[in-house]
Amino acid sequence: MPADPATAFVRRIAHLDEDARGVTLERAAMDAAPDGIVLTDLSGRILMVNAQMENISGYTSEQLCGQSIDMLVPARARVGHGEHMRRYLQAPSRRPMGMGRDLWLQRRDGSRVSVDVSLGHSSAHGGTVVAFVRDVSELRQLQADMHYQATHDTLTGLLNRWQFGHQIDQAIAEQAGPQARPFALLLLDLDDFKAINDGYGHAAGDQVLLEVARRLRSALGASDTLARLGGDEFTVLLPGVGSEADAQLVAERLLRALCVPCHVQGFELNFGASMGVALCPQHAADGITLLRYADMAMYHAKERGRANFAFYAPSMGQKMAEKILLHDRLKIALAQGSLALHYQPQVDVASGRMVAVEALLRWTDPQLGEVSPGRFVPVAEATGLILEMGAWVIAAACRQISEWLRQGIALRVAVNLSAQQLRQVDLVDQVACNLQAHGVPPHLLELEVTESEALADPELACKVLSALRALGICVALDDFGTGHSSLAYLRQLPVSRIKVDRSFMRHVPACDSESTLVRAVLALAHTMGLQVVAEGVETPCQLQFLQGLQCAHYQGWLFAKALLPEAIAALYLQDMVQTGLMGYQDS
Ligand code: C2E
Ligand code: CA
Ligand code: CA
Repeated sequence: MPADPATAFVRRIAHLDEDARGVTLERAAMDAAPDGIVLTDLSGRILMVNAQMENISGYTSEQLCGQSIDMLVPARARVGHGEHMRRYLQAPSRRPMGMGRDLWLQRRDGSRVSVDVSLGHSSAHGGTVVAFVRDVSELRQLQADMHYQATHDTLTGLLNRWQFGHQIDQAIAEQAGPQARPFALLLLDLDDFKAINDGYGHAAGDQVLLEVARRLRSALGASDTLARLGGDEFTVLLPGVGSEADAQLVAERLLRALCVPCHVQGFELNFGASMGVALCPQHAADGITLLRYADMAMYHAKERGRANFAFYAPSMGQKMAEKILLHDRLKIALAQGSLALHYQPQVDVASGRMVAVEALLRWTDPQLGEVSPGRFVPVAEATGLILEMGAWVIAAACRQISEWLRQGIALRVAVNLSAQQLRQVDLVDQVACNLQAHGVPPHLLELEVTESEALADPELACKVLSALRALGICVALDDFGTGHSSLAYLRQLPVSRIKVDRSFMRHVPACDSESTLVRAVLALAHTMGLQVVAEGVETPCQLQFLQGLQCAHYQGWLFAKALLPEAIAALYLQDMVQTGLMGYQDS
């Protein structure tokens, strides 16, 4: 029966003398070592290598022995290595692994491998140096991967918020140094990204973000730093850009790059972005403040009407604080259901009867008191809260219509839509669902879209408004006269009513030019078969003027302000009774 390998080995060395046995055992131990081992003389000539060293270097023991250790050192490290060896030999000590040095070994095939090396020294045989060499390429790769992950955004591969913070710190240090170099910080937030995510799904949202990253990168210079802060927020550091004029050029270039529609999953998506810019050192000289200022400027740009940019200005600070407070309180109000709809009558000019109502948001906050929609709607629009708020308004209006129907009151309710809702892909579904859920006949719901919002993207407006019309819903063009609609365009829009903005009614009939304008709008509307509602009618004179022009309806404080639902019900029923009585007397 053959002996097992260990027994065979012991038998083989048993007949050797003690020295030879020692050498054989040492050799066996060296070849079993997990690290490469190289033994050299003091001049660096290789005396011996083990099996693992052959593996790491790709050379055989015969090829290595007798050669200089330099053959294992990459060419550009050789000078340094020689110097290093000389110093080591002046005061040799044990040098362990894991000192974090970045060492490389030159392999036979020309490639390099990342290694860690520990050194030992012996005075035997005229002095020898032993190097233990460990292949750490996997470890280094892992460290590199971890570093990348900690500093980059996984989706776009751009720098992340954390790493961008470092870049700002570095730019600030340079800015304060002898070669002072100003820089600009640009913060960019996509407009209506939530609508894309909600409407087309997160995969489409991701594709849009990737496309945005690509476009921004290609519109920027090599020394500019681009990062994704998270969500749909990107930021750019522009070194050497110290003036508003220079920053403006870049901002405009970026906006142009983003304006081109993007094709995702077979859809053509239009998106823009709002940008805020802060300059260092002009506006601030620390990173946190600069980012905050750029953020304020960005919100300012959003409010000014999106696809826009703005520079930080000191006055933004106070306004911003107020807006943040409004936003926070509004979110709470929405969550707690403390918003309310009041309803303002629309009145038939000829008969004086209420024919419809407009739903207007009312909010009384326990801390801030009564806040007008003129103040909180723009904040909701700038922060995206408008979508949630708008959905609540549609649902609440439908609930009210059905409640009135139960009381025998069939009143059309007009609801204001914001531009973002118009861009919301599921708006038509949302409206249809509400009609169905509350059993509302579609003709009792009207949606108001301002002329300027419809004008901002006429194709989209046409598409969405047509789909709403197809549900049987009426559409009115709000604030008419302020948006400079062209006639041709107005013809294409599927609206049934236009509402003349109240700014035109203010000086009617005293002011000739405004009276002429109202007259012209009415004439135009009549030729197009559109009904006109005059807004902001406060005086009997204004009403008389409208009567003379055969204006169909008006809305204004002359008849009533926005009222609680119960008050509207009372008005309606009172009207019914009066008409009923009149009918009785007539017959
Ligand atoms: P709007 O759609 O033009 O609404 C008419 C505004 O004119 C209302 O102001 C109303 O109270 C006011 N008004 C009515 N009659 C008169 C009058 O005779 N004289 C004067 N001086 N004003 C009159 P309110 O309620 O403050 O709303 C302001 C704006 O807020 C609305 O303008 C609308 O753009 C927005 N808003 C209100 N509710 C909503 C809503 O539910 N959703 C959206 N997206 N916006 C809303
Ligand atoms: Ca309105
Ligand atoms: Ca209006």
